[in-house]
Amino acid sequence: MEKVVSPDSRWSWVEVNLAALRRNTQAFRRMLSRDVQMMCVVKADAYGHGAVPCAKTMHAAGANQFAVATVREGVALREAGIEWPILILSEPPVDCVDTLVEYDLMPAVYTADFALALGEAAASANRVARYHLAIDTGMTRIGVSREDVIELRRTIDFHRGLECAGTFTHFATADVLDDWDFALQLNRFREAVEALRGAGLDTGLVHCDNTPGTVMHPECHFDMCRVGIGLYGLHPADITRPRIELEPVMSVRGRVVRVVYPNVGDGVGYGLTWRVPKKNIQVATVPIGYADGLARELSNQMDVLVDGTRCRQVGNICMDQFMFAVDVNSARAYRPSRPVEYGDVVTILGADSDERISAEEMAGLRNTINYEVVCDFGMRLEKIYT
Ligand SMILES: *Cc1c(COP(=O)(O)O)cnc(C)c1O
Repeated sequence: MEKVVSPDSRWSWVEVNLAALRRNTQAFRRMLSRDVQMMCVVKADAYGHGAVPCAKTMHAAGANQFAVATVREGVALREAGIEWPILILSEPPVDCVDTLVEYDLMPAVYTADFALALGEAAASANRVARYHLAIDTGMTRIGVSREDVIELRRTIDFHRGLECAGTFTHFATADVLDDWDFALQLNRFREAVEALRGAGLDTGLVHCDNTPGTVMHPECHFDMCRVGIGLYGLHPADITRPRIELEPVMSVRGRVVRVVYPNVGDGVGYGLTWRVPKKNIQVATVPIGYADGLARELSNQMDVLVDGTRCRQVGNICMDQFMFAVDVNSARAYRPSRPVEYGDVVTILGADSDERISAEEMAGLRNTINYEVVCDFGMRLEKIYT
């Protein structure tokens, strides 16, 4: 590993490559026509990458708007000085309406009660609250049912404190090729938008594509695309790989804080689930655990990289630490060219020389998706921006 900056207070960190984030954002921007806006999804602290620095980098690379999941996430962006439009991707509790108006956050709207409370809050502050109408076209998650779209708008549109700034839906299967359910959702969305227009109602910006939709379905970019995972350099599915080149933005690294040569038969970690099988095995400790997002089900399954060589993680992953083993005398794989030392850099996620531990590899071992792997690493580790 060449030069590495590590935090002073703990030898473990998330490295966020903002240059890669910029290039990924530009790659998506190039996919969109000039008149299509790019909404960058920075929910869950930008999928674990840090929402504020990521949003600034994305904006400089062509992002027009941002989306978050919660009111708190939106407020945090505003308090950090982010002034661009921010959409909250679901309808928050009605008690938030004053906060939404105060911080100029656009919620997704799909109930009349919420919309009218928002309108009241805005009117009493002499403002107009902008919102995006969410339509459920088949995912059965959030949004007004497609049959009730017009009625909802007719119930709330009289309010002078409300302005519809967008109309959107979300696809359940945009990452599946030639999917009938996708076509069905898109059809229902088109019909709803046409019905709104036919009724003389303003839709604002029409949008539906997430990352896989943006890449695979340019026919429904409409006025805006909501891009998330791809910006962070991860593919939502294998089908997008041939269509766009992306660079992973996150790496997770730590340093060795202790090395020992235990006796043959000594056990490692809680439950002593791994035992030293022979002489001349090093066991090294790294200060990253499941409270940092390194899921415990990876115990005795995952590899880490030292000097670009894979080493086996051993023993149960603890809350704040894990251990890995190096067979010093092995002539074969799973052994760096030298014994491991105090202070050595260990790569848990990302590249070291020609070797890489990908979020997909880790997701496979955990029976989950790359999205969850990077989100999890956002929970406690210090972030270093490069
Ligand atoms: C998370 C989310 C997105 C972004 O999805 P990606 O697959 O990460 O691109 C877009 N729209 C909505 C409504 C979302 O919840």
